Amino acid sequence: MGGAEPSVPEAATRAWIGLGANLGDREAALRAAVRAIAALPGAQVLRTSTLYRSAPVDAGGPDYLNAVAEIATTLEPHALLAALQTIEQGAGRERPYRNAPRTLDLDILLYGEQRIATPTLTVPHPRMDERAFVLLPLAELVPARVPPEALHAVASQAIERCQGSGWVAG
Ligand code: AMP
Repeated sequence: MGGAEPSVPEAATRAWIGLGANLGDREAALRAAVRAIAALPGAQVLRTSTLYRSAPVDAGGPDYLNAVAEIATTLEPHALLAALQTIEQGAGRERPYRNAPRTLDLDILLYGEQRIATPTLTVPHPRMDERAFVLLPLAELVPARVPPEALHAVASQAIERCQGSGWVAG
């Protein structure tokens, strides 16, 4: 799902979703998540980044696989969040404690140009600037939204870009 900048239907907003998994078959979990997002009424997956492997931040467990999906959606931000949380739950995510390993984590990174601050949703995602595993795949898709100084600030983080961009189709 790489390639040229796709067009967005007129009524839709372009948004970027961070995907992460660090339990079980992580690549399969991310692939299933992209398909589940694509199947949402009111959401279209436009492109996906390549996969990255990163060590957990402030958490134990195996390495994460991460990616970012660019979508066009007619869902309002809170409706999109609810839909993503349903997908997470469908992936069997359990939350025994904060930052526990998770089968699937979905975050709204950016929703158009909107700035949102409600008790349940903050956009741009409040911690995205601290995380190489968000900024690197996001920069693949929308370099204009990731300033060089932000990339510089996370340059010391352990992260590896996995080979190939065909993981969604696999
Ligand atoms: P996490 O454990 O990182 O998945 O955090 C999930 C919680 O973060 C949920 O209760 C959401 O309501 C809240 N949240 C706030 N802003 C966002 C966002 N931009 N994307 C996803 N979850 C968010």
